Amino acid sequence: MTDIQKTVHLPIDDDGFLRRQCPYCMREFKAIVDGVKDSCSEDEQTVEDQDENELSESIEYYCPYCSQPAGKDSWWTLEQLDFIERHAQAIGEELINEHLIEPLSRMSKGIRSKGMISIEVKANRIDPITPIINPEPNDMRIIQLECCNERIKILDEWKEPISCYYCGSKHTE
Ligand SMILES: [Zn+2]
Ligand SMILES: [Zn+2]
Repeated sequence: MTDIQKTVHLPIDDDGFLRRQCPYCMREFKAIVDGVKDSCSEDEQTVEDQDENELSESIEYYCPYCSQPAGKDSWWTLEQLDFIERHAQAIGEELINEHLIEPLSRMSKGIRSKGMISIEVKANRIDPITPIINPEPNDMRIIQLECCNERIKILDEWKEPISCYYCGSKHTE
């Protein structure tokens, strides 16, 4: 098996915030997430710091609204998940082109030239669709979290105390 890693760039707003969604209450907020770059940058690179990724698997974050903790991969919005899934599909289609369709096309030509057996393989390359995702609007308001020296953005209409996304401690404004 070959491990293929491709960096998917998710849109962030002008302040550098990535949209997050609580897996429990489904409310949305925003946080600054390391390693997520703006979708405008073109570089497609492989992820090298694998060890660091594995170490941070166990880290939990807290919903600012309902305080429920969840692992770091639990906070994708449905739109982000869909976007990531479509990227995975496009990678799969490229692999099919490269390892199945192209060798098949070459093979079919080779067999015919020998004149012994005539097998015609019709294989058309799949044209993977480049996934697109809407740019991130500059909504929500910034909350300074003194406990962790971090900032998050929460829904404008939220008036109740919030929990720190990073440590879970309660904040009242
Ligand atoms: Zn929640
Ligand atoms: Zn905190």
